[in-house]
Amino acid sequence: MTVTAHRTSEDRYRREREACSAELAIELAHLTRHIDDPIVKLKYLRSAIDGGCEGPVDLVPCAPIRRAWYRLRGLEMLYRLLGSDSGADTDVLERVRAARRAARRAIGTAIAAALFLLPALLAGLVINVSGDEASVQIAATRSAAAAVAAVAEPPRVEALDGRRRLEPLAESLPAEEAGTAPATIWLADRGADWELYSNGLRIETAYAIAGKPRSYIVHHRELGPQPGIHSKPVGIVFHTSESDLWPLEEAFAGELRRSSANLIRYVQRQQAYNYLIDRFGRVYRIVEDETRANHAGRGIWARNDDVYLDLNDAFLGVAFETRWEGGRSLPITRAQLIAGRNLTHYLRQRFAIAPEMCVTHGLTSVNPKRYLIGYHLDWASGFPFEAFGLPDLYELPTPSVSLFGFDYDDDFLNTLGEPWPGLLAAERLLKEEAQQRALTVDELRRERQRRYAEWSAYAPANASVTNESSSSQTPDKRG
Ligand SMILES: [Zn+2]
Repeated sequence: MTVTAHRTSEDRYRREREACSAELAIELAHLTRHIDDPIVKLKYLRSAIDGGCEGPVDLVPCAPIRRAWYRLRGLEMLYRLLGSDSGADTDVLERVRAARRAARRAIGTAIAAALFLLPALLAGLVINVSGDEASVQIAATRSAAAAVAAVAEPPRVEALDGRRRLEPLAESLPAEEAGTAPATIWLADRGADWELYSNGLRIETAYAIAGKPRSYIVHHRELGPQPGIHSKPVGIVFHTSESDLWPLEEAFAGELRRSSANLIRYVQRQQAYNYLIDRFGRVYRIVEDETRANHAGRGIWARNDDVYLDLNDAFLGVAFETRWEGGRSLPITRAQLIAGRNLTHYLRQRFAIAPEMCVTHGLTSVNPKRYLIGYHLDWASGFPFEAFGLPDLYELPTPSVSLFGFDYDDDFLNTLGEPWPGLLAAERLLKEEAQQRALTVDELRRERQRRYAEWSAYAPANASVTNESSSSQTPDKRG
């Protein structure tokens, strides 16, 4: 595949040149996605940077407009380069011309959106600059900024030098806070459609339904399928709901309520998650803990020697009402973060879940037909593990790659910007093993992929479990 050639030339480029704006680099990487010839691509990238695509654009205060501007300038450079090449395809030229027109329109829209929301932002900041409401207003401001971003163009991960550079996402909370926390979490009170736990977690139960019973096997990382059928959840997969987001402001109260209500009905019909946390931090139980939600069927995760290939059955699905867009999740609210953390503590205590088993969908999701990771990308970066008191699983060698030789393609890199560190670590492990065994990395990957095909098709001699495993492979529709 030509993917490797692209990646290599881009990496070389990145190592050579580090002094350009990350936003510009992202736009250029996006624009060059469809240039197949790595030499033409490199030539374009060089001329775009050397031609001075930066300059006064840096001074534009609104990031989405700045990005759209960079894109337009990059397109103009590309048009010039292609125009100077007499052999250039007219179809390509026409597409670049059309993209240039679209970029001009996007800038216009972004400016209009920014002007429309600016008065609301300023009013919010000025009126509530002191007192308890300040933090709420900061969230509102961020959320409105996200709305502007959504109008203009999805924001992307910023990366240049091999390390991911993310804009701050969810607000992080200090690990230790004032006040007394209970040593254990118990059901403190309950009503007809709610439960209250001793750590402050309140679960709305009016929408709870029972899914199919959990039933899964565990694989040993060397030996394969292990005897025994399990039914207790061993982990949590965090998701984004991929729904529309309204600014977190009083003026949008009706839209906020309606959009959450629609989302709850939708995820209940789809049995999509075990829990959903709305933007005010309300926790809804959707599919009962003991039963399976359709949230992460094609996923791979491992801890020590235990490997899990059916995450719907083995893991609880917890979704935050937010959206994964252009390489990052839009910010979750402080209320969501606090509720999510309380819920995580409760679930971990109830099912004795290890911290390394609280993972995100983007870290586990695979496309088994093409042996590619990142089929779903929600929380493929930016999940606030630390604020949840959890280890940073972006650093851990990614099991789908290290154990089963899964790979990633240009689309993945274009969306995410850079692989997370654990992905690079997993690739290093593959490379080391290939060297030791005098194989090429590709040969080792193929060997591991065959292992995955074998293991994931394995079903114990038990009819009901056979049905369970195959039905769990239905694709999950949301993030
Ligand atoms: Zn998801």
